[in-house]
Amino acid sequence: MRGLYIHIPFCKRICSYCDFPKLVSNEKNYKIYIDAIKKEIDSKKEDLVNIDTVYIGGGTPNVLPNELLIDLLKHIHPYIMNAKEVTIEANPELITISQADIFYEYGISRVSLGVESTSDSSLKLLGRGHKIEDVTKAIDILRDKHIQNINLDFIFGYPMETLDNLKSDLEYVYKENVPHVSFYSLILEDKTIFSYLLSKGELKLLDDDLIADMYDYINKDLYNHGYNHYEISNYAKDGYESIHNELYWKEMEYVGIGMGASGFIKPYRYANYKTLKKYLECIEEERILIPLEEEKKEFMMLGLRMLDGISLSYYESKYHSSPIFDFDLSKHIDSGLLKIEGDRLFIPEDKLFIANIVYEEFV
Ligand code: SF4
Repeated sequence: MRGLYIHIPFCKRICSYCDFPKLVSNEKNYKIYIDAIKKEIDSKKEDLVNIDTVYIGGGTPNVLPNELLIDLLKHIHPYIMNAKEVTIEANPELITISQADIFYEYGISRVSLGVESTSDSSLKLLGRGHKIEDVTKAIDILRDKHIQNINLDFIFGYPMETLDNLKSDLEYVYKENVPHVSFYSLILEDKTIFSYLLSKGELKLLDDDLIADMYDYINKDLYNHGYNHYEISNYAKDGYESIHNELYWKEMEYVGIGMGASGFIKPYRYANYKTLKKYLECIEEERILIPLEEEKKEFMMLGLRMLDGISLSYYESKYHSSPIFDFDLSKHIDSGLLKIEGDRLFIPEDKLFIANIVYEEFV
């Protein structure tokens, strides 16, 4: 299996918690950027064969005007004609009927909507530009245009959230009856609006026990409503697990295109520059190899996102070593954050919400 990831870094506004590679929209850069990624796609033609899955992520891909969206989708069309899944991330307030027409016409089969919360006051705190009615409208438009495979992305554990807020989010999922949903625990990253407010004492994080209770509630409630928990933050009805995401977690090949994107075509890993200026300057450059130590870290980080974790024997055959020797994991095994059962090393489901403590070993 091989995937294609395309990064569109532009956003209308910056959300309070976000540390993804992104830029506040400057429309004069849109065309320059799309031309650059078309060039990068052409330079990686030989890798763009037998593409099974495509993910256009961001940033906010649907911030692009229709003509540039068409330009991009037309350009990738010859490479993705046999793809089983073509996902685009979208902000709900930007979805229009003509945009949904383009999605359908150019083979987008799955739309991932950044919902984050159903509470308008929480959305304001999170710095989002939509209200929950925009989400409902976006879902209706997509369904009208025959796009049924819709994911709703939520955040939980953010300042001032209550268990009742979370229950409303889940009720909304059931009401809309979407086939896939993601619940990401808020991670306070440096250089975000939230980290600034926290440092000034203007924001208070939720208690860890409440976040653990929320995670537990999400897992049980979604399970009771027919959603399989197949990755830390992802839940799907039967047959709707995202193929593209599994590709990363299961260490399969993917071509990464765009600012800050990374790729993996065996045996090489590469990463593009994370700033627009550098990216535009360097698109013609050869791949940048990630050293072996970095590859091991990425393997662990991605593998431990899966509920099954990693296979110790696979790691040993791949790296001629053991993760227990390569990383300082014994303290996490002693504390119960990591478990070994037979050949599997994994984070138990009830500890996944604090998986970051383990991930710090791999950064
Ligand atoms: S969370 Fe998404 S929409 Fe918000 S700033 Fe980050 S990339 Fe843009």
